[in-house]
Amino acid sequence: MITPNMHYCDLKDSYLFFNIAKKTKAYLEEHPGTHLYRMGIGDVSLPLCDAVIKALHEAVDDQASPERFHGYMPEPGAPFLRTTIAEYYRKRGIDLADDEVFVSSGASDELGDILDLFDRGGSSLVIEPAYPAYVDANVMAGRKVVHLASGKENGFLPDPSDDAKADLLYICSPNNPTGAVFNREQLKRWVDFANENGSVILFDAAYEAFIEEDHLPRSIMEIEGAKKCAIEICSFSKTAGFTGTRLGYTIIPKDLVRNGMCFNDMWVRNRTTKTNGVSYIIQKGGAAVFTEEGQKQIRANIRFYKENAKILTDALDSLGIWYTGGKNAPYIWMKCPNGMGSWEFFDYLLHEIQVVGTPGEGFGACGEGFFRFSTFGNREDTIEAAKRLKKLLG
Ligand code: PLP
Repeated sequence: MITPNMHYCDLKDSYLFFNIAKKTKAYLEEHPGTHLYRMGIGDVSLPLCDAVIKALHEAVDDQASPERFHGYMPEPGAPFLRTTIAEYYRKRGIDLADDEVFVSSGASDELGDILDLFDRGGSSLVIEPAYPAYVDANVMAGRKVVHLASGKENGFLPDPSDDAKADLLYICSPNNPTGAVFNREQLKRWVDFANENGSVILFDAAYEAFIEEDHLPRSIMEIEGAKKCAIEICSFSKTAGFTGTRLGYTIIPKDLVRNGMCFNDMWVRNRTTKTNGVSYIIQKGGAAVFTEEGQKQIRANIRFYKENAKILTDALDSLGIWYTGGKNAPYIWMKCPNGMGSWEFFDYLLHEIQVVGTPGEGFGACGEGFFRFSTFGNREDTIEAAKRLKKLLG
């Protein structure tokens, strides 16, 4: 009889969003017709921008034309999109070759799949609080997970230390859930640490487009030495509203070599075996993000979410509540008031002011006592949620 992958037994139940859904459902059953102010969602609310929609329509028409029809796409990505993305980096002074860019169907897919490149017996460092997929993907793959707690004392941006030694190092900046962003010096310390120990950094840049302070790095490839130790995983989901459309990309520098094996070559081999490329239509839509029009339009959408963030952070500022994020990220991570626990605060907000957020404890034990607000909601709800928070906690 076949033996299942027994590592699935080591997965913790993903109770976070399940519990939130259960509690809100129970509340609505007790209070039918009540409107909830949902500040917990990690999904975008604005539709795709016009430039992308136009490109998608044109690509659909291409597929109806015998001359312009596309079948299987090259597995590592369409040349037009790889060049466009590499250009986006080159314009920011990062020297990348087109074939150091791989097109993916999203960062989540890639964060799991990329583990194929590494020995199963290895270890992975996860800086917590963290996006839950890092731990789960490693547990499923049978890898050892090393947890590094961060906290208010280091602004949720810990430095490397002996406790942080592992083969793979996950770094997410801007961070989900904390919204904190590593500066150049802090990131350089992680790059040096990885190079000294022969580790590889998996840099999750899903929120890079939200960085508005120019001195902060938007790519780990901006840091000297990174091309010898880092893979960058990025997504169109939050940058351009592709959560339901699905597109991402991964940077694997050719200088990233261990035991004489080049990870870029290995990933070409992997993709050509395990995928048949990303849809032509979607890649065309993705390329439109980088046109002048596309950039203007996605920036306007990001600005909208930033205005939501400002409404919420103004409320927290006026209450004197400590938080990170909001400025260079779509998440705000606040300290629960009066020593309340994360779930206690969740229940308090739900029952008193009908605001729904995400308890910090769900992102790792060190998230206890903190709470995440997403700024992807609609404007009216954000304004009302901020008003209610001020009244309740003032
Ligand atoms: N990485 C982080 C940190 C995220 O927060 C998310 C989604 O919320 C993802 C990756 C997944 O992105 P995608 O939609 O491209 O799979």
